[in-house]
Amino acid sequence: MMSGATGQNAGQCPLCGAGAAVGLLLPGARLAASDASRDLAIAVCPACGFVFQAGADTPDYDAFIRHAYEAWDGATLFDFPRRSEDNAAAADIIARHSRADARVLEIGSNRGDILALVKERLPGASILGVDPATHGNLPVPTLRAFFSPQLFSSRFDTVILKQVLEHFADPRPMLAGAREVLEDGGLLYLDVPNLERILEGRTDAFLLEHAAYYSLGVLRAALPGFEIVEAREAGSLRIAARKLPGAAAAAFVPPADGPRLAEAARTGLERLARAREAGKAALAAHAASGGRVVFFGAYNCFRALYREFLPLLGDCPRAVLDDAMRGEREPVFGLPRIETPGPGDLLLLCSNNAEVLERMWARATELGGGAGGVAVLRPWSKFLRADGTTDGTTSDLGA
Ligand SMILES: [Zn+2]
Repeated sequence: MMSGATGQNAGQCPLCGAGAAVGLLLPGARLAASDASRDLAIAVCPACGFVFQAGADTPDYDAFIRHAYEAWDGATLFDFPRRSEDNAAAADIIARHSRADARVLEIGSNRGDILALVKERLPGASILGVDPATHGNLPVPTLRAFFSPQLFSSRFDTVILKQVLEHFADPRPMLAGAREVLEDGGLLYLDVPNLERILEGRTDAFLLEHAAYYSLGVLRAALPGFEIVEAREAGSLRIAARKLPGAAAAAFVPPADGPRLAEAARTGLERLARAREAGKAALAAHAASGGRVVFFGAYNCFRALYREFLPLLGDCPRAVLDDAMRGEREPVFGLPRIETPGPGDLLLLCSNNAEVLERMWARATELGGGAGGVAVLRPWSKFLRADGTTDGTTSDLGA
């Protein structure tokens, strides 16, 4: 199915049923958690503007991706709870819209970092997570299971779906389940990667692990039965919505500007594909000259990029730099960890969040990027050469 090029038929849109077309094809894409690979075809629905992974609604994909979750190893890198700006922003919104004594459920709670941060802000709240991951001792009460409304005999005041919906080709069964376990008037918090920001920054955020990509317009349309009380657009789309009383959700109604959203997505995906090739060529040229490649950020984005770029790197020296990481070496590939890059290094920014990448770019400049003799590559929008000049007359990768 995925041997063709962009523009090829990508099957039916999971939301509205219209015929969709491939907008981006990444052959042999990698998972963060293992060396397994698979072609990744990103489809665009011309009618409603939904962007999704073609074939992600098949049993074949389910079997493949289950492997990624089984190999998940998120517990070792960070202190608990992880106080990233993203986590803090989510916990702030949740606390602001929740009752002081809320019964809070997080679906896909992983270690429970968000729940712990919510509990700090709402000491009177009770917290519960549900997640199939098989970590050791979890610091918050957690049901080890895939979420199903039948697991619960009572309802919750607040339900959290943080970085969950993007893993489903069709978000509606999960949203209906979350609605079922919520009290009328209860709060649903959800966040997903922000498609418009991803395309704007030509960010490397199209992943085998992600089945769906949302603009605010499409996400709003996918939430009948809820009233949105707060929507924030940053690297993530963050939504706080109240459950409206009454019957279950109505049918999906495509947003009025669906065709415009679709055209913006198609154009953005084409630019990303061109810039990605230009960036990979710059990386390969640096490695071929024997220069050191320093991966800035040593978490999931790094892992997937490293697996993909291994053949490009040849024998060049390599290291990681990550302010939040401890230890002499990063744990998956054993690359040495360094505190600062040196002249002649190429610093590759490893994040798929546009906000995080902006902070990393600023930090890379402090660490010697450009004039300090360190080249900086931001996938896939900017390349700053080691002599301080950019690629051509601008820092644009040429898309
Ligand atoms: Zn559609």
